[in-house]
Amino acid sequence: MSQLDRRQFLKLSGAGLIGVTMGSVSLKAFAADPVSLTDPVAVAMKYVEKSAVADKCDTCMHMGAGTEQHRSCAIFGGKLVNKDGWCSGYMKKP
Ligand code: SF4
Repeated sequence: MSQLDRRQFLKLSGAGLIGVTMGSVSLKAFAADPVSLTDPVAVAMKYVEKSAVADKCDTCMHMGAGTEQHRSCAIFGGKLVNKDGWCSGYMKKP
């Protein structure tokens, strides 16, 4: 490998590493986004931040583990939902 080839290789490797890192960061930011009430899926699923019925996200099997007020929901691709919320995909934890 010539000197020039090595330099090109290092430049491309560095650019690739930066691209992978930035992609990973943006995916994490997307996953941690709260569900918007105007999100088409939220509208279709009738998602609300405050449940009007006895069931709540906190007792739904689709909500992620933890004690935080907002946690991920599998139905919404890992976006955050309010533990006091509800949607038509509710399924009580066994
Ligand atoms: S599926 Fe619906 S009720 Fe269950 S955690 Fe997600 S948003 Fe809440």
